[in-house]
Amino acid sequence: MTEPFLSADPATVIASYAQVNLVGGAHVATPSGIAVLNPATGAELGRAAASGTPETEAAIAAAKAAGAAWAATPARARGKLVAAAGRAITAEAETIARVLALETGKAIRTECRGELGVAADLLEFYGGLASELKGETVPFNPRILTMTTREPLGVVAAILPWNVPLVLMMLKIAPALVAGNTVVVKASEEAPFATFAAAEILMKHLPDGVLNVINGTGADCGSVLTSHKDVAKVTFTGSEAVGQMVYEAGAKNIIPVSLELGGKSPMIVCADADLKKTVTGAINGMRFTRQGQSCTAASRIYVHDAVYDDFMSALQDNLNKLVIGDPMAEATDIGTIISAKQAKVIRDYVALAEETPGAQVVRCGALPSDDALSPDLFMQPTLLLNLPEDHPCVQNEIFGPVAVIQRWSDYDDVIEKANATHYGLAATIWTASLSTALDATARLNSGYVQVNQNLTIQPNVSYGGFGRSGLGKEASLEAMLEHFTRKKTIVLNFD
Ligand code: NAD
Repeated sequence: MTEPFLSADPATVIASYAQVNLVGGAHVATPSGIAVLNPATGAELGRAAASGTPETEAAIAAAKAAGAAWAATPARARGKLVAAAGRAITAEAETIARVLALETGKAIRTECRGELGVAADLLEFYGGLASELKGETVPFNPRILTMTTREPLGVVAAILPWNVPLVLMMLKIAPALVAGNTVVVKASEEAPFATFAAAEILMKHLPDGVLNVINGTGADCGSVLTSHKDVAKVTFTGSEAVGQMVYEAGAKNIIPVSLELGGKSPMIVCADADLKKTVTGAINGMRFTRQGQSCTAASRIYVHDAVYDDFMSALQDNLNKLVIGDPMAEATDIGTIISAKQAKVIRDYVALAEETPGAQVVRCGALPSDDALSPDLFMQPTLLLNLPEDHPCVQNEIFGPVAVIQRWSDYDDVIEKANATHYGLAATIWTASLSTALDATARLNSGYVQVNQNLTIQPNVSYGGFGRSGLGKEASLEAMLEHFTRKKTIVLNFD
């Protein structure tokens, strides 16, 4: 694709997806729609498709019909198409990033452009891995060839949340498509338009029906997808409560389900850590520029007594400098919370901390004063101090710009506390000591443990949670082989 596919105007892009699904290579109108709001202003951006059972079943049927030919397409040819789509998305990244900022309230400069970069990179990464879909030979008998092959599963249903929809979509559909599956994506009804735009560019590179994108609520659309007999695999990212329903539905059809769920990730700051690097790491790790709306947010920060005061003062100084404002403005570091509903959940948690004897709530930075912006959805980075470990703010995922900061002095005790939630997604430890780092990485009960850094998802580094944070890995070759293929054993005896 050399010509730009999307209009450069985000409003025109959004209008082109008014009450349509992308099914069988075409825009298919739906009889009703779901209003999608701009969280920064409260204005309606457009009405996305409201899919019910017939629309969802049509998408599954299109994916099923395209399955045999796509599975028979040589793997490298599939990979080349997916990689080419990654380059095409890069060419239109700015427009899609603007759509994403409008519908999610995430700042264009600090969040949305970067998300497009990772999303396109994932397509190129998996496109290049196509010839790694290898089997094995088994030394069973020299006159009998025993081997395994990797086959696609069939129709994959990919269900997305709103917080990083493009990266999370590509983490699922890039390996699924390259492995020879066909896909139905269910966008998040809170932020569907950028998903549709990026997916349509990819769809244009693929045979009709190989990739289908629908929008709808969890109850009307998501539940139809997860319980349909023609769906061979569900890959889900979202909340723990919905993850349980998705897993249950998958169990009924006895199909594999991957779950990327919530987290309450600990960050342990040791007395010997580089303070400047650690404070920057806390701000990046807590994803304050994404309003803390990240499953891997370092939302429980344990700081050694000896450096607590210096850490707190540097953290507040740095947070005070972040600009909260219009997500579309280049000067803005921090945009809005996704919805009034989510903002209430966050405020209720902060109120609970405020009511707790001995606890302290520190708000950093200044709220925007622009009258055009809806005041309720902007929120300051908030630090909760001196809470008991069993407090709901310490134990539960808040999914907002709210970090719990606790003091520690005993190493074994802080490791125990770090492991004492039912989550296990990500953890970090900040120290100059290699032996402390090695000990902690072995003992921290998280699927992704980093020392002196807190990077987000990387295409070639496998990622996924322990405990209630989920099941299965995403990213890396392992994710494609383990989660989007099935292994067949073949024995050839011409003896
Ligand atoms: P959510 O669980 O409310 O919704 C996720 C998706 O599931 C949406 O598309 C929704 O429509 C759909 N859904 C709802 N009910 C359903 C049902 N019964 N059957 C099938 N689908 C249904 O989550 P959210 O609010 O969109 O996203 C925030 C959550 O996602 C947080 O808990 C966060 O931790 C989690 N998350 C996890 C990761 C990770 O990689 N572990 C990444 C990002 C977000």
